This record gives sequence, C-alpha cells and structure tokens, in this order.
Amino acid sequence: MIDYRTPLPDLLFALNHGADAARLHHWDAELASDVLTHAAAMVDGVIAPLDPIGDMEGTHLVEGRAIMPAAFVDAFRQFKEGGWPGLAVAEDYGGQGLPHILASVLSEMLSGACITYQMVLALSHGAMRTLIASGSDAQRRTWIPRLASGDYLATMCLTEPQAGSDLGLVRTTATPAEDGSWRISGGKIFISGGDQNLTGGRILHLVLARTPGAPAGTRGLSLFLCPSHHADGGRNAITVVRLEEKMGMHASPTCQVAFDGAWAEIVGAPGEGLRRMFTMMNAERLDVAVQGVGLAEVALQRSLAYAAERRQGRAGSAEGPDVISRHGDVRRMLLTQMALALGCRAMVLRTLVDLELERTPALMELMTPVCKAFVTDAAQEAASLAIQIHGGYGFLREYRVEQIARDARITPIYEGTNGIQAQTVAGRVIRLDNGAALTEFKAEIIEAAHGAAPAAAAALTRALAAVDKATAAILPRRDTGLVATSYLRLLGLVAFAAAWTRLETAAPFAPNPDRIRNCALFVRDWMLPEVDHLAARCQNDGILGSLPDSVFAP
Ligand SMILES: Cc1cc2nc3c(=O)[nH]c(=O)nc-3n(C[C@H](O)[C@H](O)[C@H](O)COP(=O)(O)OP(=O)(O)OC[C@H]3O[C@@H](n4cnc5c(N)ncnc54)[C@H](O)[C@@H]3O)c2cc1C
Repeated sequence: MIDYRTPLPDLLFALNHGADAARLHHWDAELASDVLTHAAAMVDGVIAPLDPIGDMEGTHLVEGRAIMPAAFVDAFRQFKEGGWPGLAVAEDYGGQGLPHILASVLSEMLSGACITYQMVLALSHGAMRTLIASGSDAQRRTWIPRLASGDYLATMCLTEPQAGSDLGLVRTTATPAEDGSWRISGGKIFISGGDQNLTGGRILHLVLARTPGAPAGTRGLSLFLCPSHHADGGRNAITVVRLEEKMGMHASPTCQVAFDGAWAEIVGAPGEGLRRMFTMMNAERLDVAVQGVGLAEVALQRSLAYAAERRQGRAGSAEGPDVISRHGDVRRMLLTQMALALGCRAMVLRTLVDLELERTPALMELMTPVCKAFVTDAAQEAASLAIQIHGGYGFLREYRVEQIARDARITPIYEGTNGIQAQTVAGRVIRLDNGAALTEFKAEIIEAAHGAAPAAAAALTRALAAVDKATAAILPRRDTGLVATSYLRLLGLVAFAAAWTRLETAAPFAPNPDRIRNCALFVRDWMLPEVDHLAARCQNDGILGSLPDSVFAP
C-alpha cells in the first residue's frame, strides 16, 4: 500500500493543456508551477499521513465539542502558518491574490491525500465567494480576512430532518431584533464541520432560515451569517447535539446543530436566501467534483503500484508468474481508472477556468451539475475497480482501497444528490433562454474537435448527434424523472471525451505521451460508444414509463 503522492507533472499538464489556464488574465505558468511544487511538498509530507489516522481515530464529541485527531490540529497549524487558506483570496482581504484555479488544484491534492481534512476546510472558499457576491461591505471586511487567515472555518447549514433535497421544507426561523440583527432558532442536521477544534471552534455558519410571515417554500428563505462567537469572545447560542457515525469520512465532523436564539446578521434582503446561497452551493458542487478527481487519482495510484508488484498467472512470459498489470483484464481496469482520473481532472479544471473567466452563466449552470454528477460517479467506479484489482486484499482494511470506496460514497449524495442534479438539467437548465446552455456546450465540444486528429473529431461529432437525438426526445416531456440520469451521464460522457481530445492533441507535451495517446484511444473506442445506448434510453423509457404504484408498495 502506498500513500498518496501529488501527481505534479500530470496536474501541470492538465492545467496548461487540458484547462488552457493561459486564458486567465495575468496567468504565470512558472509561478503556478512553483506554488504547486511547494503545495505538493506540504500535502505529501504533512496531509497524506493524516488519512489512516483519521479513518481509525475518527472525531468524537467530548463535552459538547467535536474533537478531531491531534495530528489534524497540528497539520492545520502548519497549513495556516504557510498561508494556504488565503491562497486565492484578494490581497485586500489578507490573502495572496493568486488565481482561484490554484486553490482548486490544492483542493484536489488535499482530497487525494486526506479527504476528511479537505472536507473540513472546503466550505470556507464557498463562504468567501458568497460574501464577495452578496455580503455588505462591512460583512466582507469583517469575515473574509478571518477566513483567509484560517482563524475561522465555515459551514453551510441547509439540511433539516424533514428538509433534504427539498429545501422548501426548512423550518428554522429567524426573528428580527431591535438593533437590526436577527435571532436564529431551530435544528440543522448533517452539518459538515459544524464544530471542530482546528480553529478552536471558531466557525462562521451560513444558515438558511425562515423570517416571520415569509411565504412557504424556497421563496420564504433568507440567508444569515451566524458566528460561533460574539465580538467579546463569548459563545453564541449554538450547540452541537450529536456527531453522526458514518460508513466513511470518519474524521469529518458531521454535526447535528441546535440554534437557540443565536445572534445572526442577514445577507441581502429577506426572501433572497436561496438565490444568494446558490453562490456557495455551486462553488461546493464544483468542489465536490474536485474531491471526486482526488479520490479517483489515489485509487489509480494504489492500483498501479499494487498491479506492478503482485504476481499471478502467466501473461505471455515462458516462466511466470507475471505481474498482474500484464493481464488484459487488469489493464482494462487500470486504463479505466486512468481515463477517469485524468479526463475528469481536465474537464473540471477547464470548467473552473471558465468560471474564473466569468464565461456565460448558461454554460456554468450546465457544467456545474455535469461535473458534479459525472465525476463523483467516476470516483465510485475508480474506487470499486481499485478493490477489484487488489483481489481479496482489496477487501482488507490494510490496503486502504476499501477506505477510498467508503469515503467516496457520499460524494454523489451531498451538495444535491446526482439524481437532483439530473432533474435540474433535464427539467430546467436545457430549457432556459432557448437552449442557450446547450448551444454553449456544443460550441465547446466543437472547439475541442478543431485541430484534433480526424478520428477524434469524428467521434465527437457522432457523440453530439447522440446529444441532439436525446435532447429532442426530452424537451417535449413534462416529467423527465425516468431518463434524466441517463441524459446527464450522456452530457458528462461527451464533455469528458472532449477533455480527452484536448489532452490527446497536446500529448507531445505530456509527462507520459504514451499514456495519454493510449488512454485517449481507450476513451474513444471503449467508453464513448456508451453515448448511443444512453441516447436510446432517453428516446424510449420503455417499461419504466408505465409502471403502476403497486409495484413499489413496501
Ligand atoms: C457526510 C454528510 C455531510 C453532509 N454535509 C452537509 C452540510 O455540510 N450541510 C448541509 O446542509 N447538508 C449536508 N449534508 C446533507 C446532504 O446534502 C443531504 O443528505 C442530501 O442533500 C440529500 O438529502 P436527504 O439525505 O434528505 O435525502 P432525500 O432528499 O430524502 O433523498 C432521498 C432519495 O430520493 C431522491 N429524491 C429526493 N427528491 C427527489 C426529487 N424531487 N426528484 C427525484 N429524486 C428525488 C434523492 O435523489 C435520493 O436518492 C451532508 C450529508 C452527509 C451524509
């Protein structure tokens, strides 16, 4: 079993050639390489060793406080001293002012090295983006420097027992106080980082709550900043009632949090909560895709290392036994993992560069769910294949591939289940503004085909024809429930293939050009043909369309 090692050459290749980061104003490839080299040393040396400790020790509730393993506290102290929390925050707010894309690459490294460590930090970036988009000047000046320095971490408090995917059911209330502040009362569940001892419990909670007389549903929700501590250092009326026991992500504190008239400030105006919270939710959705890339990468690394050592059977040699990486079926699995890790990275980084360039909102509205769902599904597959490649040893804790599968399992669920992402795309996004999002999406695919080898360009053109067929079948439907997931996967697969086409075109610059050329071929010949099957499903939902409720009676 090996620990995670930052795949620095692959990351730089994906950034410069897959994502074309040079499109960013003031992009400095040399500086990016220096920064990421330093980050890699810290991630490999300080963060990766936390992963097995976190899995074994977990986080515990002690006298109402969530206590993470001591090694995490020490690692965070070093992380903070290195200025990493403020890497991409504007200098005006005390950050280093580097491009956001570098913070996302760091996020991928942290996810591969130790997903629970990444998770407890992850929400700060979304909170800062939300403050920049929606906060008052005073709110920005107060909170962004505290988050950028790592003195505070943040949470996103949406979920309640009766309100999961359906946030219109949120019951937590906010009542106005005479001084213009608000008091929050209610209970939130599943709150990641709802308490922790990395910052001594200093947390900025972003809470969705309902104001007096607000309409039912999501229109009645408002967004609040609810800090763990008052200005005088005393604690706000926020209590962690319980920590959840989970199948994975053991060190990540998943908290049930009670707000008992907690002091808060509103962000924006009453009723604007969901719209303003979407800044954070969309940032976190892309960050969950980044988590998926990191998890697929570490699954690949452990599999390659194991398959290069384990000897079983003969694969062409006279004597044998040969290493299992020489067997065709194991190669199929390794190639699949490789294709998923490298291709998803290129796809997500390109989307993040587009986001930083403020490209059309329509394209971002489509690519955010596409990346979230496709990449988190890819992480499941890569993790499951890692277990299979390890054979029986994969089922043992010792080799730590089962841990990847356990940790990765939440990614298709949180930040809006992949099913909800699919509904959003098939039911809404592709219908807005005369299909502006799909028009942009197709332009991106056509652009990837330009300059590509003829076979690659032809494959993308065929794949776009499958998208057209599926879209034509979906648009007239009112209820897209049965086919939405197939449709979203279809779009994901096409975007993924386009990402691979870009990598293939740039293969001479890759750290391992053979790997890129052969993987690109594998994607084109083995993976991409699934688009025809997916399009056929979207055109004909067959038996599923006419099932009576009685079939599903418990
Ligand atoms: C480890 C962990 C960390 C989390 N962190 C946070 C956090 O920091 N902050 C936070 O607010 N929440 C957090 N969550 C909550 C998470 O976002 C929710 O669990 C998730 O949104 C799904 O809600 P639910 O669990 O209530 O499932 P439900 O909404 O009950 O969904 C159950 C199933 O029904 C499907 N479904 C539901 N509605 C529809 C529909 N309209 N159409 C089609 N299918 C539908 C879903 O796709 C799913 O398959 C976390 C959860 C976990 C487990």
